[in-house]
Amino acid sequence: MKLNRDNLKQLIRMVSMTTPEEIGCDECFDKLNEFAEMKLEGKSPEKAMPLVAEHLEKCGECRQEFEALLNALRELQA
Ligand SMILES: [Zn+2]
Repeated sequence: MKLNRDNLKQLIRMVSMTTPEEIGCDECFDKLNEFAEMKLEGKSPEKAMPLVAEHLEKCGECRQEFEALLNALRELQA
């Protein structure tokens, strides 16, 4: 199948919808719990949720939130 300009545009639009390059703090916060739980279970949330990991690297506020959550979960488990 050959791609013409319109196909290409459509394709780019589709890809950018399914894999947004960045997420915002709200989306990050929604997934933070799951992310922290995976982390505590010794899994790799960075691989399962790379966008969250990426956001945490960039956003100090969410990283603090994440670390607080991680500490709280650890205490719950202890
Ligand atoms: Zn954030």
